Amino acid sequence: MRNLVLFGPPGAGKGTQSAFLVNHFNLIHLSTGDVFRLNIKGGTELGNLAKSYMNKGQLVPDEVTISMLEAEVNKHEDAKGFIFDGFPRTEAQAEALDAFLAKTGDEIEAMLALEVEEGELKKRLLARAETSGRADDADPEVIQNRINVYNAETAPVANFYKSAGKFKSINGQGSIEDITLRLVDAIG
Ligand code: AMP
Repeated sequence: MRNLVLFGPPGAGKGTQSAFLVNHFNLIHLSTGDVFRLNIKGGTELGNLAKSYMNKGQLVPDEVTISMLEAEVNKHEDAKGFIFDGFPRTEAQAEALDAFLAKTGDEIEAMLALEVEEGELKKRLLARAETSGRADDADPEVIQNRINVYNAETAPVANFYKSAGKFKSINGQGSIEDITLRLVDAIG
């Protein structure tokens, strides 16, 4: 299996780029944020729980997120691999993902980290709010909180993959097409 982590702060372009990469490499796109939003729409218990964190820009607790992610992976027995988008966001999630994949002799091949300046992130998220309908994109305070949570809890996850020699930094600014080319080139 070919498993990639697409990493970066909110608004870095993970979802946009995943859409191109899944086609190019024939992988399954697994966005934890998307799964939570589907559950919110469906009014499930998981959705109600996730919503209370998401609307404030906080992380959904690890235990809930990890078991949800594992259940999603297990739905795709024939997958050639996954692009994990928005997961792992904590070191505990990274460790759980490694342990989970190892059960089937699989592993993460690389973490691709989209680097985008903070001012640009805020601009992109507010622009996305116009069409996404996402409450967490529309409120500048929630956006700031998401960026703060990213810096404090998620950015350190890069070290986990750096020490495994799997970390690749990608310039996430410029045209969507140019960024895709950089990613495809880095994945190889
Ligand atoms: P995203 O769609 O990746 O921007 O995620 C939207 C929100 O979903 C985040 O701000 C978190 O509240 C929640 N979320 C998504 N993925 C995770 C994760 N791996 N761990 C905890 N919370 C998450």
